[in-house]
Amino acid sequence: MIPVSKPSIGAEELKAIEPVFKSGWLGMGSVVKEFEDAIAAFIGGEPLSYVVAVNTGTTAMHIALSALGVDAGDEVIIPSLTFVATAQIVTATGANPVFCEIEEDTLNIDVKDLERCITEKTKAIIPVHYRGIPCNMNAILQLARDNNITVIEDAAHALGSSYYGKKIGSFGDITCFSFDPIKTITCGEGGAVITRGKKIYESIVRKRILGIDKDTWSRYKNERSWSYDVIEQGYRYHMSNINAAIGLVQIKKFEQMNKRKIDIAKRYDEEFAHIEGLSLLRTEYEDLGLFTYIIKVKEKRDELMVYLKEKGIGSGIHYIPVHHFTYYKNFMRNPLPITDKVYEQILTLPLYPDMTDEETNLVIKEMRSFFGKS
Ligand SMILES: *Cc1c(COP(=O)(O)O)cnc(C)c1O
Repeated sequence: MIPVSKPSIGAEELKAIEPVFKSGWLGMGSVVKEFEDAIAAFIGGEPLSYVVAVNTGTTAMHIALSALGVDAGDEVIIPSLTFVATAQIVTATGANPVFCEIEEDTLNIDVKDLERCITEKTKAIIPVHYRGIPCNMNAILQLARDNNITVIEDAAHALGSSYYGKKIGSFGDITCFSFDPIKTITCGEGGAVITRGKKIYESIVRKRILGIDKDTWSRYKNERSWSYDVIEQGYRYHMSNINAAIGLVQIKKFEQMNKRKIDIAKRYDEEFAHIEGLSLLRTEYEDLGLFTYIIKVKEKRDELMVYLKEKGIGSGIHYIPVHHFTYYKNFMRNPLPITDKVYEQILTLPLYPDMTDEETNLVIKEMRSFFGKS
């Protein structure tokens, strides 16, 4: 079976974990600091951003909302077409998610609808850089400035992507990355919060480890301080040295892994552009950290999925809109016709760095064959 995605991991990552084992310092320590520095250098920008490594992309976003003081009764605008994590972290704070429409051709947040969603209660906007394609950040940040709202980018898909020459995470208010097993790089599990403000950075650092005031600075040297104070609500969201060691290898492999994925995606585009029943999403491959390959199937999408499965090819739907879930129906305000329509058509095809030419050819062949092309 050809999977939809697969992490590209091997001997190098295994070797990187060994010294962590030997050191006996498995939890958060100096390797986490090294990983944070590597991410800061990778993202670049002047001055370098503050990077706080955490245990998942979900907790990265939760900690960001918490540091902003988002609370019960507040509103946070998110697209409904996203991984449910984006919504769960909003409801975790007691705030209400307000679902915003997307652009049909990029699957990114629609700025016109975003404007309509803003109220007195809006505290934050969480745009999702779908597939790694940057949202219209100039317009979103401007709208946020005008309304005194903070933008938290859900950049779980977008490590390595640039927007007008600037890497995602090197500008804007707060950016959150995920390093879970299927993301562009993995730590096993992991995430990061990127900020530029010192005050909010310090709060995020404390909240990562139970609101403790100085533990982080000792831990970065593989030490623990026995005496400490707790000065705010915190969580236990830190990254471990084991996960950081994996991430340090992965970040070095990023360019090579991403290039392979882009080459495959471009081949898919060339082939699928000629198939009547398919419609390509708008994708600018330059300066893109590509996450997944998604295509629109005009009709019979579900039959196609079954057909591919019979032929040993995995496919998926990213994502079921959040407002379709039982728990989130209560939060629905306006209908979302574009999101509902797009959801009927999207299909995610296999794409991962170690995908072979034979595997790619088989996907193309079976897609053609389903649509009556040989
Ligand atoms: C993966 C993902 C997350 C959550 O990241 P985890 O590391 O899995 O917790 C959030 N948002 C989007 C869009 C994602 O794809």
